[in-house]
This record gives sequence, C-alpha cells and structure tokens, in this order.
Amino acid sequence: MTATTARARGAPGRAASSQRITGLLAIDADKGRAHYECYRPGCPKPREEPIRPSAIAPFISGIKARHLAQYHGE
Ligand SMILES: [Zn+2]
Repeated sequence: MTATTARARGAPGRAASSQRITGLLAIDADKGRAHYECYRPGCPKPREEPIRPSAIAPFISGIKARHLAQYHGE
C-alpha cells in the first residue's frame, strides 16, 4: 500500500504560462540603487529598498521570493 500524498503546491515553474505582474524590481546601476515595488492588492509593504549599497546584490537576488514569503505567504 502506497501512501500517495497529494502534491500541494511546490510545482516549480508552472506559473510561468499565466504570468501576471505582481511586482517590479527596479535597478539603477548608475546611482547604485535598487527598489522593489509590489503591485499586489493589500500588500503591507509595497515598496522595499536595500538598507545600504552593499546589500543591493543580495537584495536583488532574493527580494521577490523573500517579499512573497514574508508578506504573502508564498
Ligand atoms: Zn507585496
């Protein structure tokens, strides 16, 4: 007997076919700035920026996933 657990969530890359714009990651390399704007309704923090210039790289690489996990439970 095999326990077939329902695969709830976690199918990677499947959302790409019906992609919606849920946020915008803007990078101004000249000024060394970046920010993320979230377009999701009811977002508690629709704009995020790295704290300091040295934090820009990790900010860019993880902001979408981190923001979605932190504020939208995804
Ligand atoms: Zn958001």
